[in-house]
Amino acid sequence: MTTDTTRVIAGASLAGAKAAETLRAEGFDGPVVMSGQEAERPYERPPLSKDYLLGKAERETIYVHPASWYADNGVELRLGVPVTGIDPAAHEVGLADGSRVGYARLLLATGSSPRPLSVPGADLDGVLYLRSLGDSDRIRAAFADASRVAVIGAGWIGLETAAAARAAGADVTVLEMAELPLQRVLGRQVARIFAGLHRDNGVDLRGGVQIDEITGSDGKATGVRLADGSHVAADVVIVGVGITPNSQLASAAGLEVDNGIWVNAQLRSSDPDIFAAGDVANAFHPLLGKHVRVEHWANALNQPQAAAKAMLGQDVAYDLVPYFYTDQYDLGMEYAGYVEPDGYDDVVFRGDVDGREFIAFWLGDEGRVLAGMNVNVWDVNDAIQALVRSGRPVDVAALCDPDTSLESLAEG
Ligand SMILES: Cc1cc2nc3c(=O)[nH]c(=O)nc-3n(C[C@H](O)[C@H](O)[C@H](O)COP(=O)(O)OP(=O)(O)OC[C@H]3O[C@@H](n4cnc5c(N)ncnc54)[C@H](O)[C@@H]3O)c2cc1C
Repeated sequence: MTTDTTRVIAGASLAGAKAAETLRAEGFDGPVVMSGQEAERPYERPPLSKDYLLGKAERETIYVHPASWYADNGVELRLGVPVTGIDPAAHEVGLADGSRVGYARLLLATGSSPRPLSVPGADLDGVLYLRSLGDSDRIRAAFADASRVAVIGAGWIGLETAAAARAAGADVTVLEMAELPLQRVLGRQVARIFAGLHRDNGVDLRGGVQIDEITGSDGKATGVRLADGSHVAADVVIVGVGITPNSQLASAAGLEVDNGIWVNAQLRSSDPDIFAAGDVANAFHPLLGKHVRVEHWANALNQPQAAAKAMLGQDVAYDLVPYFYTDQYDLGMEYAGYVEPDGYDDVVFRGDVDGREFIAFWLGDEGRVLAGMNVNVWDVNDAIQALVRSGRPVDVAALCDPDTSLESLAEG
């Protein structure tokens, strides 16, 4: 047992920064060391595919804390010096500069990385991924000169980037393996609405396609060749085909890893002094009754606060309803709840679906609301979360009736 009280945080992004903030807010006055792979201090990623990419938000607005916050709060920030290994027996981490730091409790908040595209030509200039601030800067600069942009993958990142490319005035083609964008997460009924949104905004959206290669000339991408032999010409190719959790450190240290670092509801891993939170954590969720790995902002904001409390010995269980949001063109939406692909019985709507001002509900057995998504309708997400949390069967006609309050349905 170590006598060191240090809390070490691996990963200087939203989850890491919120953990550090909570440690101090809870009165911990021992050493806090936060190591980051990137040279930037912790920042938020959602603006990177939205207002920051569109040039509407200043760089300074995306950081989690002012630059002075870390020193003011006694948080030793080791930027550009990633953790390279964990020695659980010695309670030490090794850093890239060769130094070692002892810990009483360690938080792994190492996030996730874009899944690379493995087709010929994927390493050509002009093939870009979006995860970091630098990526967003590169894409914004590339859009300024591009007249044709191809986006591979119609998930959230791909679609938001397509919207930004349209705003920059480029012709945009989105190429997706599934028939519809976001089909796996939203199901066909709602995915169709996003397909309509992008087509109405001038995107050439092609579903059910397979990528054979990125074509190039003089080392620079010129387009995308599809398996049917057709060619989509492009000056810039954006790849957004999913992410994988950065769990290599945990695996190497012998922690249990399965689609992320396997942690309990306290965010504690198979080693009692090592915790994980954010994109990298596959956490037991008491409300859902199973492990889930959530790759969204609200989870990276809230989950590390629970982890930090657990790292101080408090009895916590993280059970907030999963939540995320997106903005594309003139559509803003929030989603709360959790459904597996095909893990629901029906989707029903309240409001004006054609006018894109509605709420969609994913229903389980006996009309239980598993998830809800409000599109261009505001101040209802708390009620949707209450409905999901209640687990109560609801009258579907009342759910679809805009005159029935969602709060009253959640209360039963
Ligand atoms: C462009 C973009 C737009 C998004 N938009 C939305 C949105 O609209 N709505 C929404 O809900 N979610 C959105 N997300 C998802 C959300 O941003 C993530 O869920 C969130 O960033 C996860 O935070 P994190 O701190 O867990 O991990 P990350 O943000 O991935 O940060 C982990 C950090 O750890 C560092 N690291 C990795 N290995 C090490 C190591 N060994 N040592 C030290 N540091 C290490 C990484 O470099 C990184 O800085 C978006 C994501 C992106 C990329």
